Amino acid sequence: MQTTFSDIGLRLAGPSGIQELMDDCGAALTTHPDMRMLGGGQPAAIPQVQQLWRERMRTMLDDGSIDRTLLNYDPPGGNPLFREAFATFLKRECGWNVSSENIAVMPSSQSACFLLFNLLAGQTGSSKRRILFPLLPEYIGYANQSLTDGQFTACLPRIVETAPHEIKYHVDFDRLRITPDIAAMCVSCPTNPTGNVLTQNEFDSLHALADAHGIPLIIDNAYGHPFPGVIHSGFQPKWQPGMIFSISMSKVGLPGVRTAMIVADPHIVKALSNMNAVVSLANGNLGQALLMPLLADDTLIKLGPEVIRPFYRERSDFAKSVLASAFGERVPRALHAQEGAFFLWLWINGLPIHSIAASKSAKSSSSPATTSLTASIRSGGIHTNACASPTRSRSTL
Ligand code: PLP
Repeated sequence: MQTTFSDIGLRLAGPSGIQELMDDCGAALTTHPDMRMLGGGQPAAIPQVQQLWRERMRTMLDDGSIDRTLLNYDPPGGNPLFREAFATFLKRECGWNVSSENIAVMPSSQSACFLLFNLLAGQTGSSKRRILFPLLPEYIGYANQSLTDGQFTACLPRIVETAPHEIKYHVDFDRLRITPDIAAMCVSCPTNPTGNVLTQNEFDSLHALADAHGIPLIIDNAYGHPFPGVIHSGFQPKWQPGMIFSISMSKVGLPGVRTAMIVADPHIVKALSNMNAVVSLANGNLGQALLMPLLADDTLIKLGPEVIRPFYRERSDFAKSVLASAFGERVPRALHAQEGAFFLWLWINGLPIHSIAASKSAKSSSSPATTSLTASIRSGGIHTNACASPTRSRSTL
């Protein structure tokens, strides 16, 4: 039977970059265990982190709290006790002036972004409102999240050479225009896929711009502050009213619990909670139960700088040295400065084939260079990107 899909159905059910990436990651971890898993945001199996979650689960089994956790539906915006504890944690550890009314628990950052982008932008009365991504390249997972055409717009970066074979992307404030159709700005920090981190100046300027135009600034903190804290400079962006921060549990080794927290003004929190009721009824509550007691001390805030960040830094340095010895001076290339997250962004200038073809060939290649490179950064994540110009930027595995 030929089934006709709706326009929205076709938008969401068609092939997409994020679906290909997640299919690749999933296959590498299950049906092709011999394949070198290069990430795509998949957190590594870090023994100390896994130990922490195992201990928490053991305690929950021992004290019986697992029963309550598995049995009960939470309200759609999250467990009230967790929201309270998370607000207290953010106040104490980060100095953010928030209460539980600023916290919405959601079933992942991915779904929170989807709801946010469509809450704020799209057809609005007789006009079309857009989400502006002020710094490309951006996370491929956003690309198919709009429910209407032309809902997303973006600004190319200013590219600065920071060292031989090293670049950094900066927000190009000379190009960035907040026209009346812009509903919000969104930036992942650190960025998937480049590992770029906003400078304090860029963060402040984006905030000032958003404020001046009365639009929210969405900061996707999946790899950043306050956890997992994989920002090498220690940059700690501060939530302020009017902003929307997304904090995921995934990159502290818990992608399986599918839980994220949104920090926002109360009317945004309420709207997201209501949307979550329609789409998901409630959140999975296991992640909240696992994290809850750790919000009372500094375990989580220390985990990043003491365990997670050095783990990725070491692998990132090693991958960089392997790349340098494999390419020497033969290949015109640049890596993005290692500023955070799990990624290395490789720009091969003038590569004669498209980055998608290069990625496919790397996946099927068994050359020693590919094997040793991929083996060395197993679970650390790398995005090979080859583009002649930033307009062709495309993140691939
Ligand atoms: N945002 C960014 C920048 C990511 O890289 C990812 C996952 O890789 C996500 C959001 C999704 O996180 P979650 O697992 O909370 O949906």
